[in-house]
Amino acid sequence: MAENISKTCRECGQGFKISPEDLAFYKKIGVPEPTLCPGCRQQRRLAFRNEKNLYKRACDLCGSGIISFFDKDVKFPVYCSACWWSDKWDSSIYGRDYDFSRPFFEQFGELMQEVPKVGVRERELQ
Ligand SMILES: [Zn+2]
Ligand SMILES: [Zn+2]
Repeated sequence: MAENISKTCRECGQGFKISPEDLAFYKKIGVPEPTLCPGCRQQRRLAFRNEKNLYKRACDLCGSGIISFFDKDVKFPVYCSACWWSDKWDSSIYGRDYDFSRPFFEQFGELMQEVPKVGVRERELQ
């Protein structure tokens, strides 16, 4: 029977183990073995998302007071859920051709800074 593989996290330096089942799964989906411990991997996944801070701001379409993950200083518009799901704006205007001569994440970042995000109206929370 195969045994766990011991590794050292390249971020925090703590030891962690990879089970034979996990190794088989990594091989099956064609990804390399992790070099970070589970805690550091989780930290990296969560760093991309803000789920701890909420901001009061106005909907950029109707002006209603909303609660949002996004502060009013962000570049992209934030709409209340009623506006975001409505036909008051056309999401297809954000469509664009992919430029194969430029890096993907550069273009993805530009798109993320323009496409409206959704918030929740304050009175919907009461
Ligand atoms: Zn770690
Ligand atoms: Zn609105």
